[in-house]
Amino acid sequence: DLQLSSRVQAIKPSPTLAVTNKAAELRAAGQDIIGLGAGEPDFDTPEHIKQAAMEAIKNGQTKYTAVDGTPALKKAIIAKFKRDNGLEYEANQILVSSGGKQSFFNLALATLNPGDEAIIPAPYWVSYPDMVLVAEGQPVIIDTTADTRFKITAEQLENAITDRTRLFVINSPSNPSGMAYTLEELQAIGEVLKKHPQIMIATDDMYEPILWTGKPFCNILNATPELYDRTFVLNGVSKAYSMTGWRIGYAAGPAKIIGAMKKIQSQSTSNPASISQAAAQAALDGPQDCVSEMVTAFKERHDWLVEALNKLPGVECLTGDGTFYVFPSFQGAIDADSSVSTDVEFAEKLLTEAGVALVPGSAFGCPGHMRLSFATSMDNLKKAIERLQKALG
Ligand code: PLP
Repeated sequence: DLQLSSRVQAIKPSPTLAVTNKAAELRAAGQDIIGLGAGEPDFDTPEHIKQAAMEAIKNGQTKYTAVDGTPALKKAIIAKFKRDNGLEYEANQILVSSGGKQSFFNLALATLNPGDEAIIPAPYWVSYPDMVLVAEGQPVIIDTTADTRFKITAEQLENAITDRTRLFVINSPSNPSGMAYTLEELQAIGEVLKKHPQIMIATDDMYEPILWTGKPFCNILNATPELYDRTFVLNGVSKAYSMTGWRIGYAAGPAKIIGAMKKIQSQSTSNPASISQAAAQAALDGPQDCVSEMVTAFKERHDWLVEALNKLPGVECLTGDGTFYVFPSFQGAIDADSSVSTDVEFAEKLLTEAGVALVPGSAFGCPGHMRLSFATSMDNLKKAIERLQKALG
């Protein structure tokens, strides 16, 4: 028998990709499926970014680059942090990777020893716990509910911390909840973290610009600058610039750990694609109105969708702060349907019988909910709601 490592047996494939794949399969088999499962903007990558990539190809930027990213892209990232976040970094504090996913993967591998605990608030991005498990760490989940807008309190964090806690992960605005922490909430969390110097912090700012709170974006370092020496800011171009296929993410933080992450990357994938790096540089340095245009469309769809969802029987949806997801409770609808007992079964049923693909809350550690992505046209959203109405009615 071929032997599998215990490492790989501890994890599961990404459930969000699984839904997308299942929907694609049904579509290929001739079924009419509306996909609300995808975690990527439906817009094309802006033209000036594509142009920069084509220039890079013509100029021969088609070879290995420095493992941690080209000096030009790192310069653009440093300028972005200064301009948008008021954060100062040197080049040796920046690592460019093949997507935000690899940034977190490198971080987990560089910081966790077997049994070290990583605190992850739920609902969480599906990949955090599994990447912690690959690193042989122990995910420690803090549950939240709609009552706190799916955000943890400082007290919950305090209670979750042990001597083994090494990493605390915070993602705001959040995939899947769409919620963003306020500066005051981050300050309260920061006060707890100040008392525990053994904990490193990862703030995943991937959805930074997709925010409509009316207040400027803020992360834990804006709230508690004292945490600078042990905080990693993870960001990337995938969501903000509709560049999911280009695979560029980046991390900023203490040089020692960033250097260790670079070493891991140097022994796994080496540099991210040279052409994608040129494109990412154009995205960060170029005009930003392409971002606000997408955000305006997302906000419009969000407002329409939340209202429509709240009219469905057994569905309750909060107004989100940003991203392109909503995370309504479907518990009432699940309870009312005697043919299913869980959100996973209900999502299966909605996919096969109603032709609507969405991701069950269990995938994000928060059963009874569904994540709907509104990175799709208003037409599709309207059709999806009609189908849900029929299925739930
Ligand atoms: N972080 C969050 C919260 C995400 O939702 C995603 C993508 O779904 C990522 C990171 C990773 O993005 P990518 O690896 O596509 O750059």
